[in-house]
Amino acid sequence: MTSTMLSPESAPFTPAVASKADAAPLPAILGTYKRQAPLFVRGDGVYMYDDAGTRYLDFVAGIAVTSLGHNDAGVNGAIQEALSTGLIHTSNLYRTAPGEALAQWLVERSFASSVFFANSGAEANEGAFKFARRWAKSTGAPAKHEIIAVRGGFHGRMPGTLAATDRPNYRLPFRPLMGGVSIVERDLTELSVALDPETAAAVIVEPIQGEGGVRVLDPAFLQGLRTLTQERNVLLILDEIQCGLGRTGTFFAYEQLGFEPDMLTMAKPIANGLPMGAILVNETVARVMQPGDHGTTFGGGPLLAHVAHHVVQRLSDPALLQHVKETGAWFGEQLQAIGQRTGAVRAVRGTGLMWGMDVHEPASAVIARAFAQGLLLVSAGEHTLRFLPPLVITREELASGLAILESALKA
Ligand code: PLP
Repeated sequence: MTSTMLSPESAPFTPAVASKADAAPLPAILGTYKRQAPLFVRGDGVYMYDDAGTRYLDFVAGIAVTSLGHNDAGVNGAIQEALSTGLIHTSNLYRTAPGEALAQWLVERSFASSVFFANSGAEANEGAFKFARRWAKSTGAPAKHEIIAVRGGFHGRMPGTLAATDRPNYRLPFRPLMGGVSIVERDLTELSVALDPETAAAVIVEPIQGEGGVRVLDPAFLQGLRTLTQERNVLLILDEIQCGLGRTGTFFAYEQLGFEPDMLTMAKPIANGLPMGAILVNETVARVMQPGDHGTTFGGGPLLAHVAHHVVQRLSDPALLQHVKETGAWFGEQLQAIGQRTGAVRAVRGTGLMWGMDVHEPASAVIARAFAQGLLLVSAGEHTLRFLPPLVITREELASGLAILESALKA
């Protein structure tokens, strides 16, 4: 390990100790989330409703998932169609038409020659790490296995993906993390030191780091990384789980970068809320994968695949993508203007309908005040608000949320 890499084992961690609160009644759902109090019972378009009938404008979209909004007639219709076959699940031991059609569609629309269907983002990334190691073994370099992630990234909370995720509070309680995974600075010189062709199997990077604060990575950096990985015979995995599928105004974010990755992971909006992920792989990777190398019980089942096939066609519609570009640019300008008017904002960053706003006070305080006025927001770090509205949102709907945001920032 070089000095530029983070050593996850070196940071101190103080475990929680038993307190009086431990005697309090436990929620039936394990307490890994601080949930907002209202009970949500209904959704429609860009709104969610609680059991008291209160309406909330949704600038979160289930964290970049319900890109077509709630209760979408097309998505509901696709679910009904899939149900009408009576075939929800068969396992991957058998062929089904929806998965094959969806994979074919994705292959035709991308750099990929094959697709593996998973159930979530973390599972897609874990699979991509395995595929990278499988490919590395096939190159004849016995020590080639390392996965290198980039500072500020988030790739999931499973053993491998957590080791690639740059959030100390997520990592520290779970050390030791999976070995052979390192985090390197967002710097081509540092990455050049780390990318030893004898040991490095793959680099994983989000073109726009979502959880890390909505950081749009410099295209020149990403292009340089593509060149470097090619020179060193290392795979490049793009994690487009949050920034892909139309969120930045192109179906894949990489379409704006002028190069193709070796693998790409996607999840979140692919079935507009039904759990699904996918790993797109190029021919080099596809050729080394053999029966038994990887598996999943549910991945790509007929119900999910049929719905996802409907969703990806909608999310790749040029009219929708144009709407995301234009509306997103306008939204970004409005956020900047709010920053100037309120003096409560340090910086605004983003693209398409994926924006971050650094605020002086804790983001949680602004989120709570916006929530009280009927606007749902999520953070991306302690002082960053994140905006991930449904992609179908109109300017008028965005404007009503912006008015609430401004009042929450002034309060
Ligand atoms: N990768 C990125 C970029 C993400 O934003 C997320 C989730 O926020 C993940 C991976 C993990 O996805 P999941 O929560 O579906 O496991």
